[in-house]
Amino acid sequence: IIYSKVPVLPQVFNDPIHGHMEFPPLLVKIIDTPQFQRLRNIKQLGGGYYVYPAASHNRFEHSLGVAHLAGEFVRSLKKNQPGLLITDRDILCVEIAGLCHDVGHGPFSHMFDRMFIPEARPDLKARPDLKGWEGAVPRRPKHKTTHL
Ligand SMILES: [Zn+2]
Repeated sequence: IIYSKVPVLPQVFNDPIHGHMEFPPLLVKIIDTPQFQRLRNIKQLGGGYYVYPAASHNRFEHSLGVAHLAGEFVRSLKKNQPGLLITDRDILCVEIAGLCHDVGHGPFSHMFDRMFIPEARPDLKARPDLKGWEGAVPRRPKHKTTHL
């Protein structure tokens, strides 16, 4: 018999900002993956942590807080705007989106983006209107090929 490690009840996480945050079993299953646990080691403030070591905030707890607030937000919409027909599945999807929004971050957060992406993808350039590499666009070729 294989016993599932999936919790069947919601679990409560304590947070210094949001207090008790209750997450459904599917979110707990995602939290328990190596991919999500990796966020414990990614500094929210990039290299700022090395200058201000007390300013420690990692993508892990940040993402838990985002999932919590996303859930509160969509539950508020469901309560106050019943015409939107928001389902429990919708709420779960919004919570998962909040939880996972930073899973793709590299080490040192956005500092990594500015240093690594230009090296790894010289064919892309940052979009100044987005102040970062989100939605990076292909560079135009420097020289146009002329057909004779
Ligand atoms: Zn984030």
